[in-house]
Amino acid sequence: MIPPRVDIREVGPRDGFQNEPETIPTERKVELIEMLARTGLARLEVTSFVRPDVIPQLADAEQVLTVINVPADVSLSVLIPNERGLERALVVREAHAGPRPAFDEVNVFLSASETHNRKNVNRSIEESLASLEHVLARAGEEGLRCEAVISTSFGCPYEGHVPPERVLAIARRLHGAGAQEIGFGDTTGMANPAQVEAFFDQAFESLGASPGDSPDKGGVQLTAHFHNTRGQGLANVLAALQAGVASFESSFGELGGCPVPPGATGNIASEDLVSMLHEMGVSTGIDLDALIECARRVQKVLGRPLGSHTLVAGPVDWRDANG
Ligand code: ZN
Repeated sequence: MIPPRVDIREVGPRDGFQNEPETIPTERKVELIEMLARTGLARLEVTSFVRPDVIPQLADAEQVLTVINVPADVSLSVLIPNERGLERALVVREAHAGPRPAFDEVNVFLSASETHNRKNVNRSIEESLASLEHVLARAGEEGLRCEAVISTSFGCPYEGHVPPERVLAIARRLHGAGAQEIGFGDTTGMANPAQVEAFFDQAFESLGASPGDSPDKGGVQLTAHFHNTRGQGLANVLAALQAGVASFESSFGELGGCPVPPGATGNIASEDLVSMLHEMGVSTGIDLDALIECARRVQKVLGRPLGSHTLVAGPVDWRDANG
């Protein structure tokens, strides 16, 4: 049973831009975010409040949020590493004048692998959870929708196998702390479709969720975040769909990724994901041609060819108009 409609969160402006060796000028970021926001995408992760000295590529978070002009029906999210990051973000939200809030959602993250979490945020999983519980509580008080992403949910480059029970125990705790959406990240592209389908079957049960649940109705939403490191990203999407997952994260142009292993490719490309879903009869609300335009534009900004297939090949053309 494949969901008839899925939600896609575009994470390129955060997950993508932060992994570029160069910092993209703020005006270019603003232009790309505004283009993406007019493709029919309902969710857009725009930046992060990680310390600017750690991720200089996103040091302009405040400026980006202040300047962008995005329709009110596009839900904007920001990545929040800790309490300090949330306070910085809330200052921006407080000061924001305009027809819509500076952002609507926060994304918090940790890793299901002790070693990966230590290397990434220099904390144990338990220390991360304790901090994120504060962040989620505070964000909830501010009326923000909260997503918690658990990276290395399907395997860790340092520890290998990551037990699903451990991942799901973390997920239950984050949901209990106020996360209405839990994202499961295959940070280094280790997942395979058989594993993914079994994992999400177990995840729905473990979180007392049903496919099709929506946070707006008090349920928890399960989101899949796949990387295409080994070319299995879309196969994993299909497996997740078959388990009932109806929410995905992806990045235009296949931007982003993780520096481990070195040279690895990034997130699944949004335009490849949208193309596959539309061909399968699954609706997304996104205009594929407009999305490809965005990928073409970012390719030009970065000055290098990007890995997305649909960017190269274009959408499938069934020649319907010509009979
Ligand atoms: Zn990613």
